[in-house]
Amino acid sequence: MIDFELTEEQKWLAENVRKFSAKEFAPRIPEDDIKGHYDPETFPKLAKLGVTGICFPEKYGGAGMDYISLGLACEELEYVDTALRTVMSVHVGLNGCGIYQWGTEEQKQRFLKPMAKGEKFGVFGLTEPDAGSDVSGMKTYAKKDGANYILNGQKIWISGADYADTLLVFAYTNKEKKHEGMSAFILERGMQGLSTFSIHNKFGIRAGNVGGIVMQDVKVSKEHLLGEEGEGFKIAMSCLDNGRYTVAAGSTGLIRASLDASMKYAKQRKTFGKPIAEYQLVQEMIAKMVANYDSAKLLWLRAGWLKNKGLRNTRETSLAKWIGTTSAFDAANDAIEIHGAYGYSDEYPVGRFLRNAKGEVIYEGTAEIHKLIQAEYALEFRHDKELRCKLPGHPGMTESSVSR
Ligand SMILES: Cc1cc2nc3c(=O)[nH]c(=O)nc-3n(C[C@H](O)[C@H](O)[C@H](O)COP(=O)(O)OP(=O)(O)OC[C@H]3O[C@@H](n4cnc5c(N)ncnc54)[C@H](O)[C@@H]3O)c2cc1C
Repeated sequence: MIDFELTEEQKWLAENVRKFSAKEFAPRIPEDDIKGHYDPETFPKLAKLGVTGICFPEKYGGAGMDYISLGLACEELEYVDTALRTVMSVHVGLNGCGIYQWGTEEQKQRFLKPMAKGEKFGVFGLTEPDAGSDVSGMKTYAKKDGANYILNGQKIWISGADYADTLLVFAYTNKEKKHEGMSAFILERGMQGLSTFSIHNKFGIRAGNVGGIVMQDVKVSKEHLLGEEGEGFKIAMSCLDNGRYTVAAGSTGLIRASLDASMKYAKQRKTFGKPIAEYQLVQEMIAKMVANYDSAKLLWLRAGWLKNKGLRNTRETSLAKWIGTTSAFDAANDAIEIHGAYGYSDEYPVGRFLRNAKGEVIYEGTAEIHKLIQAEYALEFRHDKELRCKLPGHPGMTESSVSR
């Protein structure tokens, strides 16, 4: 539908991800969803597809593509299932972009490069049992021990935790300083005292893995500290600007999937002697899906455009994430309505769409948190000190002027 002047390369990428996902992922998803099974081949297949480092420069093992391309890949993956796009969100959006923005050259070579090449799977551990929306409630602590840090604590609801190789986690290094006392650490599977677990019987995103990270006296050297001590909160929020972008872009795939399933069913299903597609109340639901798809897509395209230019996009990305995910939930809900009782069974995918949509409304900032962000910007309670974004823009698309 919306093209918005995509380049030939971007069109090629979207088509390639669409075809690959239809062949390699789509056949397994319904059964994996029913069984609550994460296929360990998911990440290696994404690596084969070439998207695990899609927006990073080639010198860091990436494909050197832009942020619109990242969004298009997310949309196509989520058209098949939210679990696939969630892997991209944590690996590329939250962890990879975090190391790309804040890492030293040595850290980018050591941690980002194997992640971008698809040799290592990266995840992002911020949430804790007593700290979700309110990050300051975190209890994980990194105690200074000479030149090292010793981490103790627990992270929960971490996508991909049980399959991760490289774990970006956040801990207090000085609790009294509150937000300015948090720091970010890159942990690696195999470190002594580090373990992970899976959460089973989830409501949605059942073809994905989500779990927890346990740190018991995990000793790391300063080479594992991302950014400076005390920059952890700032780093976490900038990572969320990128993770939320991938969620927003993915949500348009879910809206499109609901729309396609609904159109197909509405043309086939007859009541009172004609296809239900001919009833205006059914058409209203289809029309809402179309409107929601276009609005959500325009919002993430704008955020991607800002990212390509290297401009700050916290407000725009938050808006795209909120509107995209809640629209995906509404689209899936209407898709079930259109399918009637069949929508309430595993025979059709729309029930899975609704369960998956609820997950993305919650993670990376609940709908309420995004409403607060939008209101705070509108009321001028919140200001971005920097108009430039720490995420490097895409070569050739950055601009020296930051006015908009
Ligand atoms: C499938 C899934 C995958 C996830 N993956 C990750 C991951 O990879 N990494 C990670 O770190 N976390 C992850 N999370 C955690 C997720 O980010 C948190 O669940 C989310 O931020 C909300 O936190 P909470 O669950 O603690 O809810 P709470 O913060 O306890 O909120 C509970 C309710 O209160 C509302 N609320 C809270 N504060 C306010 C306020 N100030 N004003 C109005 N309403 C408010 C919320 O909107 C919500 O409705 C994942 C969660 C899910 C479900």
